Amino acid sequence: MNKRMKLNCIKIIVAVAALTISLSSFSQDLVARQAPIDKKFKSVDSLALHKQIQDEQAEMPAFDLYPNWSNVNAHNYATAIVPESYTIDLTGFCMPTTQTRITSPFGPRRRRMHNGLDVKVYVGDTIRSAFDGKVRIVRTERRGYGQYVIVRHDNGLETVYGHLSKQLVKENQLVKSGEVIGLGGNTGRSTGSHLHFETRFLGIPIDPALLFNFPKQDIVADAYTFKRGQANAKTAGTYMAVGKDGVIRYHKVKSGDTLSKIANRRGISIDTLCRLNRITRKTILRPGQILRCS
Ligand SMILES: [Zn+2]
Repeated sequence: MNKRMKLNCIKIIVAVAALTISLSSFSQDLVARQAPIDKKFKSVDSLALHKQIQDEQAEMPAFDLYPNWSNVNAHNYATAIVPESYTIDLTGFCMPTTQTRITSPFGPRRRRMHNGLDVKVYVGDTIRSAFDGKVRIVRTERRGYGQYVIVRHDNGLETVYGHLSKQLVKENQLVKSGEVIGLGGNTGRSTGSHLHFETRFLGIPIDPALLFNFPKQDIVADAYTFKRGQANAKTAGTYMAVGKDGVIRYHKVKSGDTLSKIANRRGISIDTLCRLNRITRKTILRPGQILRCS
């Protein structure tokens, strides 16, 4: 169904509903009849709105943040309006690689800025998209990223995957979180096969270690709040940035999780975890349950 047909369809529903109201008002109690009709209006509206948002996301992920969709420049957002603060939802993540060893952290390196972090991968290792999104760039820079892929995600982030031996997606292709986008390699400015991984917000590099914990194969928290003008890039090795930015951290319970496991992983005591969530040490955790951790 195209947009015009959809609009007409909605118009007809509205007209029929209006007619129903006017007819029923003659013989029936108007107030009593109106409630379910109002409800119907709302469900039609939200469905249409939901579809519209989905269509817009598919055309241009994070369309409310980015000024354009272009396959030309890797990072060029001079015209973008950077919000004061923006919370990036990380819950739909997939680790780009199952490898866990960081070989070079984010930060200044040999008088240049290293805008990402390097994870040891082997030639041919599967590299996956970190979130749902749309592939913006598939290109080769012989003296830089080598064969690389940039994906823009619905959550506002853009991720860069460099030094690949093979790119397995095309520009403007929609990808799901975890979808294979390429194979690990050693192309471009690289000595020894590795994945150069960047996380950027409106072109501004954020230390990926503030979002992803490769050694633990997990996200650092369910959300990351980007703050304009603040260091979104801490120095090397800071995997846990717990609560320093004032963000409340949450944990989604997975099967097999225990209070001590969660407390240990989130760097808090079991007592604190219980107090924050008004539970006791005897409370049985349900998978999918959300616990507050700061
Ligand atoms: Zn690198």
